[in-house]
Amino acid sequence: MKKLFGREKKEKLKNATHINMGGVYVLGVMYVIFMVVLIAVQANVRYTIRADRLTLLPREELAKLKTEQLERMGSSFQIIQNGQSEADGTASQTEQDTLQEQEIQPGTDEAATQTEQDIQQKQDVHKDTLLVIEEGDAGSEKAQKLYIPVFSQMKIDFDVCTAEAFEPEMIPEYDKIVLAITHYPLLADTIAALKVWVKQGGSLMIAYPPEVSGSYQTLYEILGIKDSGDTTLVEGLHFDKNFMIGGTAKDYYIIDAYDCSLGLSITDDCEVYIRSTDEYSVPLVWRRKAGEGTIVVDNFGILEKAYRGIHCAAYSLMGDYCIYPVINGAAFYIDDFPSPVPGGDGQYITRDYNMSISDFYSQVWWNDIYELAKKHNIYYTGLVIEDYSNQVSGEFVRNREVRRFQYFGNMLLRSGGEIGIHGYNHMPLVLENFDYKDQYDAYIQWPSVEDMRNALDEVLDFTHDLFKDEELLVYVPPSNVLSKEGRELLNETSIRSVAAVYLSTDMAFEQEFEVSEDGMINCPRITSGCVIDEYMELAALSELNLHFVNTHFVHPDDVLDEDRGARLGWAKLYKNLCSYYDWLYKVSPKIRNMTGTELAAAVEHYDLVEVNRSFADDKLTLKLDNFNGENWMLFRMNNGEKLLRVRGGGFDEVADGLYLIRCLKDEVELEIYK
Ligand SMILES: [Zn+2]
Repeated sequence: MKKLFGREKKEKLKNATHINMGGVYVLGVMYVIFMVVLIAVQANVRYTIRADRLTLLPREELAKLKTEQLERMGSSFQIIQNGQSEADGTASQTEQDTLQEQEIQPGTDEAATQTEQDIQQKQDVHKDTLLVIEEGDAGSEKAQKLYIPVFSQMKIDFDVCTAEAFEPEMIPEYDKIVLAITHYPLLADTIAALKVWVKQGGSLMIAYPPEVSGSYQTLYEILGIKDSGDTTLVEGLHFDKNFMIGGTAKDYYIIDAYDCSLGLSITDDCEVYIRSTDEYSVPLVWRRKAGEGTIVVDNFGILEKAYRGIHCAAYSLMGDYCIYPVINGAAFYIDDFPSPVPGGDGQYITRDYNMSISDFYSQVWWNDIYELAKKHNIYYTGLVIEDYSNQVSGEFVRNREVRRFQYFGNMLLRSGGEIGIHGYNHMPLVLENFDYKDQYDAYIQWPSVEDMRNALDEVLDFTHDLFKDEELLVYVPPSNVLSKEGRELLNETSIRSVAAVYLSTDMAFEQEFEVSEDGMINCPRITSGCVIDEYMELAALSELNLHFVNTHFVHPDDVLDEDRGARLGWAKLYKNLCSYYDWLYKVSPKIRNMTGTELAAAVEHYDLVEVNRSFADDKLTLKLDNFNGENWMLFRMNNGEKLLRVRGGGFDEVADGLYLIRCLKDEVELEIYK
């Protein structure tokens, strides 16, 4: 708006000077222009919608492809266990939650035979990675909850084996073995064989700091540990090597830090990648050559979803190379936008700008947000709220006060953005069976699915009337709350992508970046707001390295909400937001900026692709199943080689030894220069 108005004004002013008009006329001309722009905006002058660079597969086709993929994946890996520790034969809750694998139940002859057959089968088919776990141990269960989804999402060919069932003869079946256990005495019979295997070329990783025991200490010789002490506090991460995207840009601090690592000293031949920021720093991730093989120690014990990318990066240091598919996309969603003027405490707007809430949004906030988008070529996705009412039943009356919607909506679309749906009002789509646990006093549940449907139909119709060329494909649940019933309902509308949250909080609808079985695409938001705390910074860093993705939620009403930093004033909040965007584009200038729908398409490409890797004669060949025109990968080489060329695609070095690979064919060849 500012730009359009400014340009026309300048031309008119030039004319005005030319024919020597007085100031009054200039004012008159400006007034006329203002009126014309106002009328144009109100008359809903046709905006141009930027053609999507990526488009979605039809819903049914996508659902079919996803279902087929799940059926295939269902038998691709299993837990190997011999049943000594589980008399009742049931899997732990974590395993049930995280796994979709075929599980072999212990305790019966049939199961034992089955296990033997499977082990036999695996001897025939060499696999990439074995994750060794400890049943019933809290630390190991946390690690499983982290590493199993990470390996699945990196599309690594892996098995999971309990420590009890782990036999020396299984070791040579794998290239990489990751030990995610707390009590190393469980491996008393295998440790010697593991050490021999590493020296002969195997790659071993310690997945998290375990309990120090005599058995663990027998590994010190190959791990490069001189001495170990107690668990120790880690207040922040310092990157010694530029091996992760964004790692060396700054130090990253840990909110609510606790003793999560082992205090230890290591030998000089260990290559330290990450250490703690503390005065007496502790090595957190290191790699070491041991004979022909390598070891990686991940001594950073925070195993939460927000830190996945750190552990993924540690894993990628194993062996000679690691390659995995990524999304490559950055999307910015704007909460309640467009919507009626938000209610709230405008005292800080009055304090700093002396204007109404409504004027502040059109004259200050939007200009700033718009300029920031222009600077980084961002395409926002705004989420419509039709009316701030409490209504959950009856007829949902059309909001006729549409000027604000047209004004902001058209500008959003003109700048290449997208309009999605937040709701008829801000009541989350939950029925009376949903428990708000007294946390949202103002929220009312919907009496029936039919009422939710009517309200959704109304806001879709309302938005479609205003923006006829928009398809309305993206939905963000109000307050991040969404029920199963609400989620199912969305698949009956035009909505193709649900953008809830990546990191869980209380009752928030938590998601992974993936396609659901019914064809809906989940594009969770990772970070939000203008106060980017240490936790969000680390989560953003982590996700750039695991999925090469960034999703941020902009709240227009931060400036009305003390909990979100209103007291700081908009100028300071805006500065925070600017420095976050600056950080993002400084550390990942190659990331693709996308609208919500484009990101959904990128997630679709990423999630469906299946990767077959083979390495021979300094060439890594990727064969991609479910290839759909384009895929992106992160490729790490660990021995200082260079990537020479990529046949069937292209590449960029995004950190030392880490490459972003663009695959344009279903068979891609990476030529490596040693
Ligand atoms: Zn909202």
